[in-house]
Amino acid sequence: MSRNLPYSSTTIKIIWKIMNGQMPCVFQELTGLYCPGCGGTRALKALLKGDVITSILYHPLILYVVFVAVLFAFSYLIYAKTKNPKFRLHFDNKYAYIGIGIIVINFVIKNYYLMFEATDLLQTLPPV
Ligand SMILES: [Zn+2]
Repeated sequence: MSRNLPYSSTTIKIIWKIMNGQMPCVFQELTGLYCPGCGGTRALKALLKGDVITSILYHPLILYVVFVAVLFAFSYLIYAKTKNPKFRLHFDNKYAYIGIGIIVINFVIKNYYLMFEATDLLQTLPPV
């Protein structure tokens, strides 16, 4: 009686990438499609280098999250200085819905190009 090996070629490929200092996307390795977060790390790296356009192209959610965080920080600073509650923003679901919308649109566009236009958009961007 033979047993199947517990590791598929995909598993070996993922382990090989990790051992070589890469951060593979398990979703992409299994399906060939981008996951909703693909490009996020590169977007953050580009943003930290000050390359806003490349960051947006890799994943627009990163800039959105940073923008909302800075907006809330300034709001709180102004509120702390003035004690006027009208300057204090309160988190509500619209910020999350906008973020989810950005993720869905990004996911659809990148995978549309991958599946129907044979264009891997993330590979066309400059490396960060
Ligand atoms: Zn991914």
